[in-house]
Amino acid sequence: MAIRLPKLMQWFHPSPADPRGTYPEPRVKDLILFVTDRCNMRCDHCMFWQRIDNPGQEMTLEELQTLARTSWPLRTVAITGGEPFLRGDLAGIVEAFFRDNQTHHVQINTNGLLMDRMEDLVTRDLALHYQHYLTYQVSLDGLAETHDRVRRLPGSFTKILRNLERLVELMRGHPFFRVVVLTNINKNNYHEIEELARILWDETGVEHTYDLVRGASFSTWNIPHAIRQEEDPRECDLPPREELESILERIRRVNEREGSRFNQCVRQLEVQVGLYLGRPAPFYCLSAGRTAAVVYSDGSVAACEFTTPFARLADFDFDLPRLWTSPAAQTRRKQIQCCSCAHSCFVLTSLQEWEEQQARHPASTQAAS
Ligand code: SF4
Ligand code: SF4
Repeated sequence: MAIRLPKLMQWFHPSPADPRGTYPEPRVKDLILFVTDRCNMRCDHCMFWQRIDNPGQEMTLEELQTLARTSWPLRTVAITGGEPFLRGDLAGIVEAFFRDNQTHHVQINTNGLLMDRMEDLVTRDLALHYQHYLTYQVSLDGLAETHDRVRRLPGSFTKILRNLERLVELMRGHPFFRVVVLTNINKNNYHEIEELARILWDETGVEHTYDLVRGASFSTWNIPHAIRQEEDPRECDLPPREELESILERIRRVNEREGSRFNQCVRQLEVQVGLYLGRPAPFYCLSAGRTAAVVYSDGSVAACEFTTPFARLADFDFDLPRLWTSPAAQTRRKQIQCCSCAHSCFVLTSLQEWEEQQARHPASTQAAS
């Protein structure tokens, strides 16, 4: 596949007055937490399919409780996998972050199939009890035929749509709980954006956001070879590059029709599309290895999913701040000052960091807006 490189070193060495932002102190605010490699699906666009086909060891609940207790208070924990609801102790993991960490927002990324388990967790009312927020982010990747084909599970679209209706009902009685749908735009489903949005709006009213399919071979630039993590979809690709601007425009129109409820997602997509079309990002990768961390289910830790793990929690008594301020983490932060990527999690958290800096120091960051 032909890859157009954005301008070299575009995210390199920001200075304090740099309009693309200043690297924040290394203190994790947003944690991407893989709790299992096991999954009940085998999707074409899955970046983690090799681990999912060969699941490894999982951290125990006790180890995860220590992680929650010793970490800085987190803004967001995105619990992911694999399918997180396959873990029978998921409620205990969520409670550990609410109770012992004061995590403001726990999001569970799910394929939406295991309704009994999803309902059980909501009705435990952990979010209400601790006055923090619980979100289920359910994936739906096209209309019925496309979704079931890409996700390799016949009937799954209809089942997930019914489950979404039930989850939306549950939102009414559980004010700290919400559900959002995420559609991964790829070469198979980009024709279906408006129709899928209409179905979700008419049948469930659920909040709907979008991402572009990711993979190391087409979403990253200039990652040093020695630390590059080759995560690519099992069998999927971006829509044609020449379609990306019009896809973005179509999503903008859906957003306007739905009352502009996913503006931040649109801003994130604008940056991602710009990167794919060779434009520089308006800000550096400010979050990876600094305010955002990835913890895999075996306890290994990475700055992001496109770079290799650099340490193991087990070697730091499951104390993330101790690991995050270690020489290994400092070395990794230096190693990642030259790469860029269109990975939504880090585009979004870098965008948030950059906007916060812009609000604090408008003169130094306005030039790039
Ligand atoms: S994309 Fe999600 S649901 Fe699909 S195989 Fe990967 S982890 Fe499982
Ligand atoms: S998230 Fe940041 S560190 Fe990781 S590959 Fe992307 S630009 Fe590099």
